[in-house]
Amino acid sequence: MVCAYCGKEAKGTKEHIVSCAILDLFPECYITFDETRNRIHESDPMVKDVCADCNNNRISYIDSYAKDFIARYFIQTYSENDRVEIEYDYTMIQKMLLKYAYNDMRSHKEDCSFFDEEIKQFLMNFDDTIPKENITILCGIAVNVSPVPDAMFGNLKLRWGKNPFFYSNSTIRNINYETGQIILNEDIERENFPDLKISYVFRFNSVQFLLLCWDKESNKLDKSSEEQRKEIAKKRRELAKSEKRIAELDILFQRIYEDNVVGKLSDERFATMSANYETEQKALKESLVQLKANIEMQNDKAANVSEFVEKVRRYTEIKELTPAIINEFIDCIMVSKKQMIDEKTVYPIDIYYSGIGIINAPSAEEYEEMFQERLKQKHSEKEKTA
Ligand SMILES: [Zn+2]
Repeated sequence: MVCAYCGKEAKGTKEHIVSCAILDLFPECYITFDETRNRIHESDPMVKDVCADCNNNRISYIDSYAKDFIARYFIQTYSENDRVEIEYDYTMIQKMLLKYAYNDMRSHKEDCSFFDEEIKQFLMNFDDTIPKENITILCGIAVNVSPVPDAMFGNLKLRWGKNPFFYSNSTIRNINYETGQIILNEDIERENFPDLKISYVFRFNSVQFLLLCWDKESNKLDKSSEEQRKEIAKKRRELAKSEKRIAELDILFQRIYEDNVVGKLSDERFATMSANYETEQKALKESLVQLKANIEMQNDKAANVSEFVEKVRRYTEIKELTPAIINEFIDCIMVSKKQMIDEKTVYPIDIYYSGIGIINAPSAEEYEEMFQERLKQKHSEKEKTA
């Protein structure tokens, strides 16, 4: 057998499609409904084409993260008014969902060419912590907002499905909560995304993920912006370090000055030390000016305001969903609790944009202010985690 990950000839070991550590969290889910093969198994689905080394060592860190993440937040059930704050590692969630999708596709003997050497290395390499630009993850809390109790849907806490349909409008127009009557929309528009290679929906109890795998060659992927952002973040870190050292030198100088005054430090020694401090500080201040100018320049490039506003305008009009739109702007999409408008039940959808925070369209100046604020926040978050 050839190992699905490292490609080496080896004896195959059993690999669970969704890691058994997660299955152990839900012991009541012990039956598998295999809709493709129209079968029910009293066990969980597995593949058997992974070598022992990959299974037990190289890719097992993904399962550990997945188990901890789900055990921490999603064992419990949430109701529609709950607020949930989660701490997550985007790269690890990418890895976890990619791994499960890859397992599932192999178990159905499907074309797995999307999982090329690059993706496999990404999964096998613990140290690769840079998220893939052509993989988008959307995540939401699974809340039963229907009038029907959970039990009516069966005990389906763990589910996944490939290539779900995307609709630009809701399939349900109205639910009458008095009678339970559901009125369906007649003109349901199905969306197609030509650059979307694979998509999966996963549900792990109270969380749902949408995994979107885009064509690597898609010209809609904004490849340059991520590089620019990283470059600016690095420069900002250097800047902060220099500023800190300059302040430190002031304190040191103050200290030797006082020591010299009270006679603890000779005049000669004081002269040498203060000259050294001064030289170092002068050099730092010079490089600081350079660094600031550099950041300014790149900021302009990355966050050119008029270009930015133009982009937002374009995207708010556009119907098509592209990876660049999702990766650049949308932090999360949230469906709020139901409301009655004109005697119809509606579920307002809030979209949280990253980089900005617009719901109502503000002026260009306001855009800029909010965007800069968000950038600052993101950088300080990055610095904290770095
Ligand atoms: Zn292997």
